[in-house]
Amino acid sequence: MNVYDSERMTDVLAAAGYGPAASPAEADLIILNTCHIRERAAEKLFSELGRLRRLKEARAAEGGRLRLAVAGCVAQAEGAEILARAPFVDLVFGPQTYHRLPALLTQAEEHGATIDTDFPAEGKFDFLPQQRAAGGGPVAFLAIQEGCDKFCSFCVVPYTRGAEQSRPADAVLAEAKRLAAAGAREITLLGQNVNAWRGAGPDGGTWPLARLLFALAEIPGLLRLRYTTSHPRDMTPDLIAAHAKIPALMPFLHLPVQSGSDAVLARMHRGHRVADYLRAVERLRSARPDIALSSDFIVGHPGESEADFEATLALVREVGFAQAFSFKYSPRPGTPAAAAPEQIPEPEKAARLAALQALLRAQQSRFNEAMVGQALPVLLTGPGRHPGQLAGRSPYLQPVHLHASREWLGSIRTVRILAAHPNSLAATIEPEEHAAA
Ligand code: SAH
Ligand code: SF4
Repeated sequence: MNVYDSERMTDVLAAAGYGPAASPAEADLIILNTCHIRERAAEKLFSELGRLRRLKEARAAEGGRLRLAVAGCVAQAEGAEILARAPFVDLVFGPQTYHRLPALLTQAEEHGATIDTDFPAEGKFDFLPQQRAAGGGPVAFLAIQEGCDKFCSFCVVPYTRGAEQSRPADAVLAEAKRLAAAGAREITLLGQNVNAWRGAGPDGGTWPLARLLFALAEIPGLLRLRYTTSHPRDMTPDLIAAHAKIPALMPFLHLPVQSGSDAVLARMHRGHRVADYLRAVERLRSARPDIALSSDFIVGHPGESEADFEATLALVREVGFAQAFSFKYSPRPGTPAAAAPEQIPEPEKAARLAALQALLRAQQSRFNEAMVGQALPVLLTGPGRHPGQLAGRSPYLQPVHLHASREWLGSIRTVRILAAHPNSLAATIEPEEHAAA
């Protein structure tokens, strides 16, 4: 979502006459777009600001001017504190107000350091310029839903991104058409709870996500669809069925479970049990037998016992994940879990994380190795690591590297997988693809 927001800030600033700078040293304006999800992410801001302060002072000494802004969820949560700790910052604004950037920059110019952490009544999407009208690559993000009303015990998102909001179907379809016309072949729909999307439909009714996916699959040029991040509670039967019926919907789903213990899930206020998750997985697999699954896990949530953690390992063994993200629980200011008395000691969290990650890594390697020898349709997305190489994406979101002509960028080619690495695959183009080209 932050990558998407940064791209959209670029769109807003382009309309105001700004262009991208090659390096901080050449920039007139630097925006740090920040993440507040875990403490470590937030800490990076102040060390980065320290570096930029020196750049700003050096610029001033030469008679020039550098403006510094802080955006994103740390800005939203700690706006005033940022200006107190780093008074050389010109502008602080949250994730819901970046459509106002040109006006905010003018305000900072005229009145000094400015903070805008509103949750405005007007939705930013109605005010943003069109998304990257020209020159986008073959893969694109499209935000369709923002914010969250679920209030999991550990999570800052409902406080920093605000209430859950779904964009209307018309607006999403129009943007997807523009992206496809500009060269996008794969679109990933974004939302903190993307599968909870319920948007106004052009027919006056409310559409669920499955209906939107059917409509998106009709757009010429759009070959692949994905959506992320989904909540197990919103994995409805119609959405599961869409995985059987829409070939463009890729067989990979990020469906975070967080924990394999019902007691911990209840403490987390997740609103589902382990059995509900396993049932969703089983239904997804019967709809789309080759579907690969990914998840997020938190270890060391307050009150997590050794037996609870063992239950998480058991769930991982039972499901088998193609890929996953796992984190030590990080207390976030203002969230209920941060105030819970049963905090888990740091060394315990570290040991649990190491054990979980070893298991997840082994599953990911096994999943990647199972691809060797297979022929897979790969979307060629950009230049590869070495001259003559291109990089692409498998249906299962694995990065694929191969030697191929640049003219094939943006096309889907059948490739033979030669080797598996922990985080990517090496492939060669099938001879019939050469003949067809
Ligand atoms: N909406 C998504 C997740 C959004 S946050 C969902 O409900 O699944 C992305 C991930 O960050 C979460 O899935 C969780 O695993 C992790 N996360 C969130 N808050 C955290 C915290 N306080 N400590 C550690 N990890 C956290
Ligand atoms: Fe955070 Fe996701 Fe829970 Fe919402 S559903 S509070 S975004 S973890």
